[in-house]
Amino acid sequence: MNQPRRPGLETICVHHAEDREAQRGAAAPPLYQCSIFTYPDCESFVNRKAPGDGRYDYTRVANPTTALLESKVAELERGEACRAFASGMAAISAGILSCVKSGGHIITVETVYGPTRRFLSDYLPKFNIETTYIRGTDIEQFQAALRPNTQLIHLESPSSFFFEVQDMPAVVALAKSKGIAVSIDNSNASPMFQNPLDHGVDLVMHTASKYIGGHSDLVGGLVVASRERIEKLVSLEGELLGGIADPFASWLMLRGLRTLGVRMDRHYKSALTIARLLEMDSRVARVWYTGLDSHAQARLAKKQMRGHGCLVSFQLQNPTRERTFAVVEALKLFGIAVSWGGFESLAIPIETPDPATGKPTWIIRLSIGLETVEDLKADLYQALDV
Ligand SMILES: *Cc1c(COP(=O)(O)O)cnc(C)c1O
Repeated sequence: MNQPRRPGLETICVHHAEDREAQRGAAAPPLYQCSIFTYPDCESFVNRKAPGDGRYDYTRVANPTTALLESKVAELERGEACRAFASGMAAISAGILSCVKSGGHIITVETVYGPTRRFLSDYLPKFNIETTYIRGTDIEQFQAALRPNTQLIHLESPSSFFFEVQDMPAVVALAKSKGIAVSIDNSNASPMFQNPLDHGVDLVMHTASKYIGGHSDLVGGLVVASRERIEKLVSLEGELLGGIADPFASWLMLRGLRTLGVRMDRHYKSALTIARLLEMDSRVARVWYTGLDSHAQARLAKKQMRGHGCLVSFQLQNPTRERTFAVVEALKLFGIAVSWGGFESLAIPIETPDPATGKPTWIIRLSIGLETVEDLKADLYQALDV
């Protein structure tokens, strides 16, 4: 007998878990913008069960709009279950807390997202949990950082600013042999381009404020894992820390998902065009983009990812603070703002340790939006002339 064909990711975004007939044929799912759900009588109220029996009780625990979002994202990431949160940081902090105990130890990469680093370095020591930062480009660095009390390896691949990648199957093999959990911030690849659960990773986290929302109009986060892990996460970090997604944010995330596939394709195409252009430009010293052959880990990136995102970092020939600021300010189509992955292009100057030398350096990080790429090219070309 033939295996039923698994629908493609774009089809999952549009159709998975939809029951349009039950919603009067509405093409877009209804927004259940309510905190509570009523019962027809006292008997059904006192006998109410956990969510999942078809009824809903209280939105901090479960909500139908959020549940639709969660089933689609679980399916996209090939996981059993998903929990939506009020921000990427709510998802990441809840996910990490679900894996560690007081006295534990975490290993992560030096280039991990800034607030995640602060959570690990400034907050978790309260519970006697320590973190070791490694470059993450070689499995031996993970091996060397292991301690008897290591409970979690938290990956971010590609990581922020320089987009370094970690070898997921190798890290998983090492962690599994010691009973250590592995989590990953998969925001930079999106569920379209990388599915870490397929490589044995235990928890996948996303900010939805970037690609999944896609319209720079919401803040949200997601965790995908086994049903067992998510059930615990829902009833502990979800219900008790309470940082869950508001139904309207979930509804906007569902709207974002419908165009995620075509947006990612365009981000990839345009960002690759821009990265190649910058690489050939004599006014530019270095370019970082996972899709370039010159990326130090291009082969590993290609093995683990089906495509590459909107973020391109580069360093000017003469990377002073003044010149870097002047180039960013000369751009007309690129806004100066944090975040990335939205419809509009952005550019920011960043002072950061050079991954090769450790010395602080100025770079420019671009988030390539959905504008006509010829216009973005022309804008960059003129800005580099200042
Ligand atoms: C923005 C970002 C986050 C945090 O997401 P919020 O929704 O802003 O809390 C986490 N990880 C990465 C890689 C990010 O870029």
